[in-house]
Amino acid sequence: MRENLKFVAVGHVDHGKSTMIGRLLYDTGSLPPDKMEEVRRMSEESNGQPEFAFVMDHLEEERQNRITIDTAQTFFKTAKRDYTIIDAPGHKQFLKNMITGSTQAEAALLLIDAEEGLREQTHRHAYILGLLGIKQLMVVVNKMDLVDYSQQRFDELKDQITKRLGDFGMSINPDMIIPISAQQGDNVANKGDKMAWFTGMTMLQALDVLECAPSLEDGMLRFPIQDMYRIDDETILVGRIASGKLEAGQQIIFHPCGKSATIGAVKKFGEEATAAIAGESVGITLKTDSALKAVTRGEVACDVEPSPMVSSTLEAVVFWMSGMPLRLKDRVEFKCATQQLNCQVVRIDNRLNSSSLEIIDGESNELRETEVARLTLKMEGYVATDKFDQVPETGRFVLMRDTDTVAGGVIH
Ligand code: GDP
Repeated sequence: MRENLKFVAVGHVDHGKSTMIGRLLYDTGSLPPDKMEEVRRMSEESNGQPEFAFVMDHLEEERQNRITIDTAQTFFKTAKRDYTIIDAPGHKQFLKNMITGSTQAEAALLLIDAEEGLREQTHRHAYILGLLGIKQLMVVVNKMDLVDYSQQRFDELKDQITKRLGDFGMSINPDMIIPISAQQGDNVANKGDKMAWFTGMTMLQALDVLECAPSLEDGMLRFPIQDMYRIDDETILVGRIASGKLEAGQQIIFHPCGKSATIGAVKKFGEEATAAIAGESVGITLKTDSALKAVTRGEVACDVEPSPMVSSTLEAVVFWMSGMPLRLKDRVEFKCATQQLNCQVVRIDNRLNSSSLEIIDGESNELRETEVARLTLKMEGYVATDKFDQVPETGRFVLMRDTDTVAGGVIH
Protein backbone atom coordinates (compact mmCIF):
# COMPACT_ATOMS: atom_id res chain seq x y z
CA MET A 1 0.00 0.00 0.00
CA ARG A 2 1.29 3.47 -0.84
CA GLU A 3 2.07 5.83 1.98
CA ASN A 4 -0.22 8.78 2.52
CA LEU A 5 0.93 11.92 4.25
CA LYS A 6 -1.65 14.40 5.47
CA PHE A 7 -0.64 17.98 5.91
CA VAL A 8 -2.52 21.08 6.79
CA ALA A 9 -1.93 24.27 4.82
CA VAL A 10 -2.31 27.60 6.62
CA GLY A 11 -1.57 31.16 5.65
CA HIS A 12 -2.88 34.69 5.80
CA VAL A 13 -5.72 35.30 3.37
CA ASP A 14 -4.40 36.40 -0.06
CA HIS A 15 -0.88 35.17 0.58
CA GLY A 16 -1.53 32.64 -2.18
CA LYS A 17 -2.66 29.38 -0.59
CA SER A 18 -5.20 28.50 -3.29
CA THR A 19 -2.69 29.36 -5.98
CA MET A 20 -0.07 27.18 -4.33
CA ILE A 21 -2.45 24.24 -4.02
CA GLY A 22 -3.58 24.73 -7.63
CA ARG A 23 0.05 24.81 -8.75
CA LEU A 24 0.90 21.65 -6.81
CA LEU A 25 -2.04 19.83 -8.36
CA TYR A 26 -1.21 21.05 -11.86
CA ASP A 27 2.51 20.31 -11.70
CA THR A 28 1.91 16.81 -10.36
CA GLY A 29 -0.82 16.14 -12.95
CA SER A 30 -3.40 15.64 -10.22
CA LEU A 31 -6.20 17.82 -11.62
CA PRO A 32 -9.02 16.17 -13.60
CA PRO A 33 -8.19 16.12 -17.37
CA ASP A 34 -10.60 18.95 -18.24
CA LYS A 35 -9.06 21.17 -15.55
CA MET A 36 -5.53 20.36 -16.72
CA GLU A 37 -6.60 21.45 -20.19
CA GLU A 38 -8.22 24.61 -18.84
CA VAL A 39 -5.05 25.63 -17.02
CA ARG A 40 -2.97 24.96 -20.13
CA ARG A 41 -5.30 27.15 -22.15
CA MET A 42 -5.30 29.93 -19.55
CA SER A 43 -1.56 29.68 -19.38
CA GLU A 44 -1.22 30.27 -23.13
CA GLU A 45 -3.68 33.16 -23.08
CA SER A 46 -2.02 34.90 -20.15
CA ASN A 47 1.63 34.54 -20.99
CA GLY A 48 2.32 31.64 -18.69
CA GLN A 49 0.43 33.05 -15.72
CA PRO A 50 -2.72 30.99 -15.22
CA GLU A 51 -4.99 32.06 -12.39
CA PHE A 52 -4.79 28.93 -10.24
CA ALA A 53 -7.01 30.36 -7.55
CA PHE A 54 -9.79 30.35 -10.15
CA VAL A 55 -9.23 26.65 -10.85
CA MET A 56 -9.39 25.99 -7.13
CA ASP A 57 -12.72 27.84 -6.87
CA HIS A 58 -14.15 25.53 -9.51
CA LEU A 59 -12.88 22.47 -7.70
CA GLU A 60 -14.35 23.83 -4.49
CA GLU A 61 -17.79 24.18 -6.07
CA GLU A 62 -17.68 20.64 -7.36
CA ARG A 63 -16.56 19.39 -4.00
CA GLN A 64 -19.41 21.13 -2.23
CA ASN A 65 -21.92 19.58 -4.60
CA ARG A 66 -20.55 16.12 -4.01
CA ILE A 67 -19.86 15.81 -0.36
CA THR A 68 -20.45 17.59 2.88
CA ILE A 69 -17.36 17.49 4.98
CA ASP A 70 -16.22 20.51 6.88
CA THR A 71 -12.57 20.48 6.00
CA ALA A 72 -11.68 20.64 2.37
CA GLN A 73 -9.29 17.84 1.47
CA THR A 74 -7.31 17.80 -1.73
CA PHE A 75 -5.17 14.99 -3.06
CA PHE A 76 -2.03 14.71 -5.15
CA LYS A 77 0.81 12.26 -5.52
CA THR A 78 4.52 12.18 -6.12
CA ALA A 79 6.56 9.17 -7.21
CA LYS A 80 7.19 8.47 -3.53
CA ARG A 81 3.70 8.66 -2.01
CA ASP A 82 0.19 10.13 -1.90
CA TYR A 83 -0.62 13.41 -0.19
CA THR A 84 -3.73 14.85 1.35
CA ILE A 85 -3.81 18.60 1.84
CA ILE A 86 -6.15 19.69 4.56
CA ASP A 87 -7.16 23.18 3.65
CA ALA A 88 -8.48 24.88 6.73
CA PRO A 89 -11.14 27.32 5.59
CA GLY A 90 -11.83 28.89 8.99
CA HIS A 91 -9.90 28.78 12.23
CA LYS A 92 -12.92 27.62 14.14
CA GLN A 93 -13.59 24.63 11.94
CA PHE A 94 -9.91 23.87 11.69
CA LEU A 95 -9.37 23.83 15.43
CA LYS A 96 -12.51 21.84 16.05
CA ASN A 97 -11.53 19.22 13.50
CA MET A 98 -7.96 19.02 14.68
CA ILE A 99 -8.94 18.66 18.29
CA THR A 100 -11.87 16.31 17.95
CA GLY A 101 -9.84 14.05 15.73
CA SER A 102 -11.79 14.21 12.49
CA THR A 103 -8.63 15.63 10.96
CA GLN A 104 -5.19 14.41 11.77
CA ALA A 105 -2.34 16.24 10.16
CA GLU A 106 1.16 14.85 10.35
CA ALA A 107 2.71 18.09 9.17
CA ALA A 108 1.86 21.70 8.54
CA LEU A 109 2.73 24.03 5.74
CA LEU A 110 2.76 27.71 6.57
CA LEU A 111 2.64 30.14 3.70
CA ILE A 112 4.01 33.70 3.80
CA ASP A 113 3.76 36.42 1.15
CA ALA A 114 7.31 37.59 0.35
CA GLU A 115 6.16 41.14 -0.25
CA GLU A 116 3.85 41.51 2.74
CA GLY A 117 5.92 39.46 5.14
CA LEU A 118 4.69 38.08 8.46
CA ARG A 119 1.24 39.26 9.43
CA GLU A 120 -0.78 38.95 12.59
CA GLN A 121 -2.54 35.87 11.22
CA THR A 122 0.82 34.26 10.48
CA HIS A 123 1.68 34.61 14.16
CA ARG A 124 -1.65 33.16 15.24
CA HIS A 125 -1.26 30.23 12.88
CA ALA A 126 2.16 29.53 14.30
CA TYR A 127 0.67 29.68 17.79
CA ILE A 128 -2.11 27.23 16.90
CA LEU A 129 0.28 24.76 15.30
CA GLY A 130 2.35 24.84 18.47
CA LEU A 131 -0.75 24.35 20.57
CA LEU A 132 -1.73 21.31 18.55
CA GLY A 133 1.70 19.83 18.85
CA ILE A 134 2.39 19.57 15.14
CA LYS A 135 6.12 19.02 14.96
CA GLN A 136 6.87 18.76 11.27
CA LEU A 137 6.74 22.16 9.69
CA MET A 138 7.45 23.61 6.30
CA VAL A 139 7.38 27.32 5.53
CA VAL A 140 7.06 28.56 1.98
CA VAL A 141 7.80 32.18 1.20
CA ASN A 142 5.50 32.79 -1.77
CA LYS A 143 5.31 35.51 -4.45
CA MET A 144 9.10 35.70 -4.74
CA ASP A 145 8.49 37.12 -8.24
CA LEU A 146 7.07 40.27 -6.60
CA VAL A 147 10.34 40.94 -4.74
CA ASP A 148 12.55 40.30 -7.78
CA TYR A 149 13.45 36.90 -6.40
CA SER A 150 15.59 38.68 -3.83
CA GLN A 151 17.79 36.47 -1.69
CA GLN A 152 18.12 39.26 0.86
CA ARG A 153 14.34 39.51 1.33
CA PHE A 154 14.08 35.73 1.66
CA ASP A 155 16.85 35.60 4.28
CA GLU A 156 15.18 38.38 6.24
CA LEU A 157 11.85 36.53 6.33
CA LYS A 158 13.57 33.26 7.09
CA ASP A 159 15.13 34.81 10.21
CA GLN A 160 11.86 36.40 11.28
CA ILE A 161 9.79 33.23 10.99
CA THR A 162 12.44 31.08 12.66
CA LYS A 163 12.46 33.48 15.59
CA ARG A 164 8.67 33.71 15.78
CA LEU A 165 8.25 29.91 15.77
CA GLY A 166 10.89 29.75 18.48
CA ASP A 167 8.81 32.17 20.58
CA PHE A 168 6.01 29.60 20.46
CA GLY A 169 8.26 26.73 21.41
CA MET A 170 8.67 25.29 17.93
CA SER A 171 11.77 24.64 15.93
CA ILE A 172 12.04 24.46 12.19
CA ASN A 173 14.65 22.77 10.09
CA PRO A 174 16.23 25.60 7.99
CA ASP A 175 16.05 23.34 4.90
CA MET A 176 12.28 23.40 5.27
CA ILE A 177 12.00 27.13 4.55
CA ILE A 178 11.63 27.51 0.80
CA PRO A 179 11.27 30.52 -1.51
CA ILE A 180 8.64 29.92 -4.20
CA SER A 181 6.44 31.61 -6.71
CA ALA A 182 3.23 29.61 -6.81
CA GLN A 183 2.02 31.59 -9.77
CA GLN A 184 5.18 31.16 -11.87
CA GLY A 185 5.91 27.69 -10.58
CA ASP A 186 9.42 28.39 -9.24
CA ASN A 187 10.60 25.89 -6.62
CA VAL A 188 7.21 24.16 -6.35
CA ALA A 189 7.71 21.02 -8.44
CA ASN A 190 10.44 22.50 -10.63
CA LYS A 191 13.40 24.55 -9.66
CA GLY A 192 13.07 27.14 -12.45
CA ASP A 193 15.89 29.49 -13.37
CA LYS A 194 15.08 32.60 -11.33
CA MET A 195 16.60 31.67 -7.98
CA ALA A 196 20.00 30.21 -8.77
CA TRP A 197 21.16 31.47 -5.36
CA PHE A 198 18.86 28.99 -3.68
CA THR A 199 20.49 25.58 -3.46
CA GLY A 200 17.89 23.88 -1.26
CA MET A 201 15.04 21.53 -2.07
CA THR A 202 11.93 22.36 -4.09
CA MET A 203 8.66 22.18 -2.20
CA LEU A 204 7.87 18.73 -3.57
CA GLN A 205 11.31 17.39 -2.68
CA ALA A 206 10.94 18.79 0.82
CA LEU A 207 7.47 17.27 1.21
CA ASP A 208 8.91 13.88 0.32
CA VAL A 209 11.39 14.25 3.19
CA LEU A 210 8.65 14.64 5.83
CA GLU A 211 7.87 11.54 7.83
CA CYS A 212 4.53 9.76 7.88
CA ALA A 213 3.13 8.93 11.29
CA PRO A 214 3.93 5.34 12.21
CA SER A 215 1.03 2.98 11.65
CA LEU A 216 -1.19 2.46 14.70
CA GLU A 217 -0.70 -1.26 14.43
CA ASP A 218 2.99 -0.80 15.26
CA GLY A 219 2.20 1.28 18.32
CA MET A 220 1.90 0.17 21.93
CA LEU A 221 -1.11 -1.93 22.84
CA ARG A 222 -4.14 0.06 23.96
CA PHE A 223 -7.39 -1.92 24.07
CA PRO A 224 -10.15 0.08 25.77
CA ILE A 225 -12.75 -2.26 27.24
CA GLN A 226 -16.24 -1.48 26.01
CA ASP A 227 -18.18 -4.28 27.59
CA MET A 228 -17.99 -7.67 29.31
CA TYR A 229 -20.05 -10.70 28.43
CA ARG A 230 -20.44 -13.95 30.24
CA ILE A 231 -20.88 -16.86 27.82
CA ASP A 232 -20.67 -20.53 28.88
CA ASP A 233 -18.81 -19.81 32.11
CA GLU A 234 -16.33 -17.67 30.27
CA THR A 235 -15.97 -13.88 30.63
CA ILE A 236 -15.20 -12.11 27.38
CA LEU A 237 -13.91 -8.55 27.37
CA VAL A 238 -14.81 -6.76 24.18
CA GLY A 239 -13.74 -3.54 22.51
CA ARG A 240 -11.93 -2.06 19.54
CA ILE A 241 -8.13 -2.06 19.57
CA ALA A 242 -7.05 1.60 19.55
CA SER A 243 -3.37 0.87 19.00
CA GLY A 244 -0.94 -2.04 18.75
CA LYS A 245 -1.64 -5.77 18.53
CA LEU A 246 -2.79 -8.47 20.89
CA GLU A 247 -2.43 -12.24 20.85
CA ALA A 248 -3.16 -15.27 22.98
CA GLY A 249 -0.58 -15.72 25.76
CA GLN A 250 0.37 -12.02 25.85
CA GLN A 251 1.00 -10.33 29.20
CA ILE A 252 -1.11 -7.25 29.72
CA ILE A 253 -1.87 -4.73 32.43
CA PHE A 254 -5.21 -3.03 32.81
CA HIS A 255 -5.13 0.69 33.55
CA PRO A 256 -6.09 2.63 35.57
CA CYS A 257 -6.76 -0.34 37.93
CA GLY A 258 -3.20 -1.66 37.51
CA LYS A 259 -4.13 -5.39 37.47
CA SER A 260 -2.01 -7.67 35.33
CA ALA A 261 -3.25 -10.65 33.37
CA THR A 262 -2.43 -13.02 30.52
CA ILE A 263 -4.66 -13.16 27.45
CA GLY A 264 -6.30 -16.58 27.14
CA ALA A 265 -7.99 -16.43 23.77
CA VAL A 266 -8.67 -13.78 21.14
CA LYS A 267 -12.08 -13.92 19.47
CA LYS A 268 -13.22 -12.22 16.31
CA PHE A 269 -16.91 -12.50 15.44
CA GLY A 270 -17.19 -15.22 18.04
CA GLU A 271 -14.51 -17.34 16.34
CA GLU A 272 -11.17 -18.05 17.96
CA ALA A 273 -8.26 -16.14 16.39
CA THR A 274 -4.56 -16.05 17.20
CA ALA A 275 -4.02 -12.32 17.02
CA ALA A 276 -5.67 -8.98 16.24
CA ILE A 277 -4.46 -5.50 15.34
CA ALA A 278 -5.42 -1.82 15.78
CA GLY A 279 -8.80 -1.00 14.30
CA GLU A 280 -10.29 -4.47 14.86
CA SER A 281 -13.19 -5.12 17.20
CA VAL A 282 -12.43 -8.22 19.23
CA GLY A 283 -13.13 -10.09 22.42
CA ILE A 284 -10.51 -11.55 24.74
CA THR A 285 -10.60 -13.98 27.63
CA LEU A 286 -8.09 -14.02 30.46
CA LYS A 287 -6.10 -17.04 31.60
CA THR A 288 -6.90 -16.44 35.23
CA ASP A 289 -9.96 -14.76 36.63
CA SER A 290 -8.27 -12.72 39.35
CA ALA A 291 -8.03 -9.49 37.34
CA LEU A 292 -11.66 -9.71 36.32
CA LYS A 293 -12.93 -8.46 39.65
CA ALA A 294 -11.29 -5.09 39.02
CA VAL A 295 -11.89 -4.82 35.29
CA THR A 296 -14.95 -2.93 34.09
CA ARG A 297 -15.91 -0.90 31.06
CA GLY A 298 -13.40 1.96 30.73
CA GLU A 299 -10.33 -0.01 31.77
CA VAL A 300 -7.66 -0.10 29.06
CA ALA A 301 -5.69 -3.29 28.41
CA CYS A 302 -2.09 -2.20 27.78
CA ASP A 303 1.36 -3.58 27.10
CA VAL A 304 3.29 -4.09 30.31
CA GLU A 305 5.61 -1.33 29.07
CA PRO A 306 5.25 1.48 28.15
CA SER A 307 2.29 2.17 30.37
CA PRO A 308 -0.13 5.05 29.84
CA MET A 309 -0.22 8.07 32.14
CA VAL A 310 -2.48 7.19 35.06
CA SER A 311 -3.60 10.18 37.00
CA SER A 312 -6.46 11.98 38.70
CA THR A 313 -5.38 15.36 37.34
CA LEU A 314 -5.04 16.12 33.68
CA GLU A 315 -3.70 19.05 31.69
CA ALA A 316 -4.94 19.39 28.15
CA VAL A 317 -5.67 21.79 25.32
CA VAL A 318 -9.43 22.14 25.01
CA PHE A 319 -11.65 23.67 22.35
CA TRP A 320 -14.93 24.95 23.80
CA MET A 321 -17.95 24.49 21.52
CA SER A 322 -20.98 25.42 23.60
CA GLY A 323 -22.86 28.73 23.72
CA MET A 324 -22.88 28.46 27.50
CA PRO A 325 -19.35 29.30 28.70
CA LEU A 326 -17.28 27.03 30.88
CA ARG A 327 -16.47 28.58 34.24
CA LEU A 328 -13.71 27.81 36.64
CA LYS A 329 -14.83 25.13 39.16
CA ASP A 330 -17.53 23.84 36.79
CA ARG A 331 -18.15 20.12 36.77
CA VAL A 332 -18.33 18.34 33.42
CA GLU A 333 -18.21 14.76 32.25
CA PHE A 334 -14.95 13.52 30.74
CA LYS A 335 -15.01 10.84 28.04
CA CYS A 336 -11.82 9.34 26.63
CA ALA A 337 -12.10 6.13 24.60
CA THR A 338 -14.47 4.12 26.84
CA GLN A 339 -13.54 5.92 30.07
CA GLN A 340 -16.25 8.17 31.39
CA LEU A 341 -16.15 10.10 34.65
CA ASN A 342 -16.89 13.50 36.14
CA CYS A 343 -14.25 16.14 36.59
CA GLN A 344 -13.85 19.67 37.84
CA VAL A 345 -12.10 22.49 36.00
CA VAL A 346 -9.44 23.82 38.35
CA ARG A 347 -7.44 26.05 36.02
CA ILE A 348 -7.94 27.83 32.69
CA ASP A 349 -4.74 29.08 31.02
CA ASN A 350 -3.64 30.69 27.74
CA ARG A 351 -7.05 31.36 26.29
CA LEU A 352 -7.21 31.90 22.54
CA ASN A 353 -10.22 33.08 20.60
CA SER A 354 -10.24 30.95 17.48
CA SER A 355 -12.18 33.45 15.37
CA SER A 356 -10.38 36.68 16.18
CA LEU A 357 -7.23 34.75 17.14
CA GLU A 358 -6.81 37.06 20.08
CA ILE A 359 -4.65 35.50 22.77
CA ILE A 360 -5.46 36.13 26.41
CA ASP A 361 -2.35 35.36 28.42
CA GLY A 362 -2.36 33.99 31.92
CA GLU A 363 -5.22 32.52 33.90
CA SER A 364 -8.91 33.10 33.16
CA ASN A 365 -12.17 32.46 34.95
CA GLU A 366 -14.06 31.25 31.93
CA LEU A 367 -13.86 29.82 28.45
CA ARG A 368 -16.34 30.84 25.78
CA GLU A 369 -17.63 29.33 22.59
CA THR A 370 -14.90 28.82 19.91
CA GLU A 371 -12.13 29.56 22.41
CA VAL A 372 -9.19 27.29 23.08
CA ALA A 373 -7.31 27.06 26.36
CA ARG A 374 -5.08 24.85 28.41
CA LEU A 375 -7.26 23.35 31.14
CA THR A 376 -6.36 21.55 34.32
CA LEU A 377 -9.01 18.99 35.16
CA LYS A 378 -9.39 17.27 38.51
CA MET A 379 -10.97 13.87 37.95
CA GLU A 380 -13.30 12.09 40.34
CA GLY A 381 -11.13 8.99 40.02
CA TYR A 382 -8.22 7.90 37.87
CA VAL A 383 -7.86 7.94 34.11
CA ALA A 384 -5.40 6.27 31.76
CA THR A 385 -4.30 8.50 28.90
CA ASP A 386 -1.51 8.83 26.36
CA LYS A 387 -0.04 11.67 24.40
CA PHE A 388 -2.17 12.49 21.39
CA ASP A 389 0.68 12.09 18.92
CA GLN A 390 1.44 8.61 20.27
CA VAL A 391 -2.04 7.13 20.61
CA PRO A 392 -4.69 9.45 19.16
CA GLU A 393 -7.63 7.58 20.69
CA THR A 394 -6.42 7.67 24.29
CA GLY A 395 -4.82 11.09 23.74
CA ARG A 396 -8.01 12.95 22.96
CA PHE A 397 -11.29 13.33 24.78
CA VAL A 398 -14.59 15.15 24.81
CA LEU A 399 -16.29 16.97 27.65
CA MET A 400 -20.05 16.58 28.10
CA ARG A 401 -22.58 18.66 29.94
CA ASP A 402 -25.88 16.83 30.41
CA THR A 403 -26.04 15.02 27.10
CA ASP A 404 -24.31 17.67 25.00
CA THR A 405 -20.73 17.45 23.77
CA VAL A 406 -19.39 20.86 24.81
CA ALA A 407 -15.67 20.52 24.18
CA GLY A 408 -12.92 18.48 22.58
CA GLY A 409 -9.44 18.19 24.01
CA VAL A 410 -5.99 16.81 23.26
CA ILE A 411 -3.25 15.73 25.63
CA HIS A 412 0.37 16.60 24.85
P1 GDP B 1 -5.34 32.73 -0.73
O1 GDP B 1 -6.35 33.69 -0.22
O2 GDP B 1 -4.19 32.59 0.18
O3 GDP B 1 -5.90 31.43 -1.19
O4 GDP B 1 -4.69 33.46 -2.02
P2 GDP B 1 -4.90 33.23 -3.57
O5 GDP B 1 -4.27 31.97 -4.01
O6 GDP B 1 -6.32 33.47 -3.92
O7 GDP B 1 -3.98 34.41 -4.12
C1 GDP B 1 -4.21 35.75 -3.81
C2 GDP B 1 -3.68 36.60 -4.96
O8 GDP B 1 -2.26 36.48 -5.01
C3 GDP B 1 -4.20 36.17 -6.31
O9 GDP B 1 -4.46 37.31 -7.08
C4 GDP B 1 -3.05 35.38 -6.90
O10 GDP B 1 -3.00 35.42 -8.31
C5 GDP B 1 -1.85 36.07 -6.31
N1 GDP B 1 -0.71 35.18 -6.19
C6 GDP B 1 -0.66 33.96 -5.62
N2 GDP B 1 0.58 33.44 -5.70
C7 GDP B 1 1.34 34.34 -6.36
C8 GDP B 1 2.70 34.40 -6.75
O11 GDP B 1 3.50 33.49 -6.54
N3 GDP B 1 3.11 35.53 -7.40
C9 GDP B 1 2.27 36.56 -7.67
N4 GDP B 1 2.76 37.61 -8.31
N5 GDP B 1 0.99 36.54 -7.31
C10 GDP B 1 0.52 35.46 -6.66
